[in-house]
Amino acid sequence: MVTAAIKTFPCPRCGKPSQWTDNPFRPFCSERCKMIDLGAWANEEYRVPTQDAQSNDTPEYDQD
Ligand SMILES: [Zn+2]
Repeated sequence: MVTAAIKTFPCPRCGKPSQWTDNPFRPFCSERCKMIDLGAWANEEYRVPTQDAQSNDTPEYDQD
């Protein structure tokens, strides 16, 4: 059992020790945590009106 070389980190979403190397979802432990966090971020941040910032790096979104 040689596990000392594997770096782990606490998932910022659920706090579970997760593997860093070869983890496509880092800094999260899994796709689930990643999507949850991204979803929360989108809900919180994407609602900010960005009339001034809507220049070239913002894709067009359908207006609700
Ligand atoms: Zn997690």
